[in-house]
Amino acid sequence: MPTPGLDGYIPSWHKPEHDDLAELARNFFAKEVLPHAERLERQGHPDREHYLKAGELGLLGLSVPEEFGGGGGDFTHEAVMLHEQQQVGEGSLGLAVHSGIVTGYLVHYGTDEQKRRWLPGLCSGELVGAIAMTEPGGGSDLQAIRTKAVRDGDDYIVTGSKTFITNGGLADLVILAVKTDTSQGAAGISLVVAEVSAEKEGFRRGRLLDKIGLHANDTAELFFDDFRVPAANLLGSEGGGFFQMMQQLPQERLVIGVGAVSAMQRAVELAVAYAKERTAFGKTVFAHQNTRMVLADCATRTRASRIFLDDCITRHARGELDVPTAAMAKLWLTEGQCEVVDKCLQIFGGYGYTTEYPIAKMYADARVQKIYGGTNEIMKELIARVL
Ligand SMILES: Cc1cc2nc3c(=O)[nH]c(=O)nc-3n(C[C@H](O)[C@H](O)[C@H](O)COP(=O)(O)OP(=O)(O)OC[C@H]3O[C@@H](n4cnc5c(N)ncnc54)[C@H](O)[C@@H]3O)c2cc1C
Repeated sequence: MPTPGLDGYIPSWHKPEHDDLAELARNFFAKEVLPHAERLERQGHPDREHYLKAGELGLLGLSVPEEFGGGGGDFTHEAVMLHEQQQVGEGSLGLAVHSGIVTGYLVHYGTDEQKRRWLPGLCSGELVGAIAMTEPGGGSDLQAIRTKAVRDGDDYIVTGSKTFITNGGLADLVILAVKTDTSQGAAGISLVVAEVSAEKEGFRRGRLLDKIGLHANDTAELFFDDFRVPAANLLGSEGGGFFQMMQQLPQERLVIGVGAVSAMQRAVELAVAYAKERTAFGKTVFAHQNTRMVLADCATRTRASRIFLDDCITRHARGELDVPTAAMAKLWLTEGQCEVVDKCLQIFGGYGYTTEYPIAKMYADARVQKIYGGTNEIMKELIARVL
């Protein structure tokens, strides 16, 4: 990440423009969104105005071409923005999905007309994006999804339900994985864009799910009952959905990796600061050898993680990030996040278990990183396949 951390490490892809972006993002998250954190956690979803403000500042769709309202940058810019969001502890806006994933699908597979219709709204924050693959019956086995889309004249009629959908409470545009041919497995899957700004006939949002962490972000169930989606909203070709998801999942896993490394860095910084302030047995907690050893381990793990992440980002920028390497990154970085955050929490003693201290929230938020974007067991399957 461009902002030098504890170790002052600067990634090879870093350019001066990343520093300006980091400052803009940091100020926005820290000054405009973070002061509302408690209220946002209570309401269980972000404020729409914060999406609009982020859009106004040019923080949404950083990797979307300028002609479609984006920043004209690349994944490194998204990574810098996401890093800053995590660093200041802002967890309401679902930007990892909105900017890090949804816009990518539209840029890669949208027709010119589709891009012009949806990307400017996503970049301005007038539209909030989500992607819905997981179903109540299962998320790991994507080929087995049951939501179906049956062609009827100029529309598809969609029936089924999705669950655990990030941004699902506010989303206006949902990239929906459906079966257009139920007799097939992967080859029967297509992606359609469901426009769900208003409650329309056949579409219903379920409750916001009550989670152990990420309390300010909306994770929801979505129900489709003979819901009409124009056939013109098909993304790419019929039957191409599984391939499209496999192509985009490495970026999704990288986005998760960015969050993981950023969280490790923040946890170490918070723990070092606390350990140097708190005293026990007549000296600072930091002065006790065990604390120094633990923090040295955590800092080393963090540095090594950043180097692996940066290598993946560099490969991704060249279009060379393969599925197993992205799976390794997701696996190792999220396991590292959970370990490092846990060890750092321990240094806070009892205070680490109270929600007054950010490390407690980081502990609860970290756990899901090993689950979504494909569970870490599935990551191991993907890695083992090429061994
Ligand atoms: C907060 C949150 C946000 C999410 N956001 C989104 C989103 O925006 N969009 C979306 O589509 N989904 C989202 N998800 C869903 C997430 O991707 C799934 O939960 C995940 O893919 C696992 O699916 P599942 O929960 O159905 O578990 P299952 O598939 O039922 O798996 C249960 C357990 O079995 C294990 N398992 C399954 N198959 C194998 C195997 N072959 N070998 C070994 N072990 C296996 C799994 O690893 C897991 O431990 C989100 C989930 C959460 C919690």
